[in-house]
Amino acid sequence: MTPTERPETGKARSIGSMDAPSPNRETVRKVMQGNRGRDTKPELAVRRLVHARGLRYRVNARIEPDLRRTADLLFTRRRVVVFVDGCYWHGCPEHFRPPKSNTEFWTSKIDRNKERDGQTNDALRRRGWTVLRFWTHEPATSVAEAIETAVRKGA
Ligand SMILES: [Zn+2]
Repeated sequence: MTPTERPETGKARSIGSMDAPSPNRETVRKVMQGNRGRDTKPELAVRRLVHARGLRYRVNARIEPDLRRTADLLFTRRRVVVFVDGCYWHGCPEHFRPPKSNTEFWTSKIDRNKERDGQTNDALRRRGWTVLRFWTHEPATSVAEAIETAVRKGA
């Protein structure tokens, strides 16, 4: 060790590794980071395509003042609401795999999300909204097509 090295801030082996992030924390962080990026890109692609089809909508808009839910795309006049659900957070049957650590925690969290999605659908349909839900893994072109069909139907 040279005199300029500062062991207290370096990677020196500490006696107790109290400061080291636990594997669980690390897993959680990676899962969250990995999915955040993946969730937004497909949504943007869908928005672009829908816009190119001449449809105008609001983005991340609150659907109704007393519902604490925002839509990814909202067609207020046609009463069509679109959610592009991330495969991980919304428990896509094809892509959601609970992490090996904290399995129970994640599984029940995702289950709660799914339940909430179902309640949101019910509440909106009761109020006369057409609710469209897609997975982020679905091809953006077919999603955009389905949105256009639903929106034009109400025209
Ligand atoms: Zn998926």
